[in-house]
Amino acid sequence: MIIKSINLETVCGITSKLPQNQLPEVAFAGKSNVGKSSLINALMNRKSYARVSAQPGKTQTINYYNINDELYYVDLPGYGYAKVTESVKEQWGAMIERYLHTSKQLKLVFLLIDIRHKPSKNDVMMYDWIVHNGYYPVIIATKSDKLKRSQLSKHLKEIRQELSLNKETPVFPFSSLSKQGREEIWDFIEEVVMP
Ligand code: GDP
Repeated sequence: MIIKSINLETVCGITSKLPQNQLPEVAFAGKSNVGKSSLINALMNRKSYARVSAQPGKTQTINYYNINDELYYVDLPGYGYAKVTESVKEQWGAMIERYLHTSKQLKLVFLLIDIRHKPSKNDVMMYDWIVHNGYYPVIIATKSDKLKRSQLSKHLKEIRQELSLNKETPVFPFSSLSKQGREEIWDFIEEVVMP
């Protein structure tokens, strides 16, 4: 994908009305600190347009990045950050649910999982929840540079098992350092969103 223009067009807080966009949307979900901002930056060919957080779990917003006036990347708030209050967790759930329910243009949901660790309870819950809302998330296994090549397939298999993925569900290993996986993810987005 050639990135010609990017624009952080809409930032929605808890009480904001969500935009009814005309362009297709690709959403990114994952626990805080999983590398979501870094992935979105890599997919936008930018170093730090999406904020890479020193303070995980702080931002509870849904950010819509207009890409080339062709599609949106939708950055969903990260979950599972222990230090936020219960009420923030509830608001977070309500926001994501509202997004999954109301977006008419959502074509693809990526769920990010840290390749080093077994998917957490929250990851499994998130996966099931997205499925419950009518979407089949595609997995991006982040921080692949942290593993030796020889360990990759074992960890990918474990992610598949824990989430009970079927064979057809793609799992893309990705590293924002080496950019491993970026081309494959772009190609996949283009296939799904701009056939
Ligand atoms: P977010 O909270 O999910 O948006 O995660 P960030 O993109 O802010 O990244 C969280 C931390 O993980 C930061 O310190 C990043 O530098 C680091 N990180 C993100 N992606 C990678 C990666 O692919 N490889 C490595 N080694 N570190 C990463």
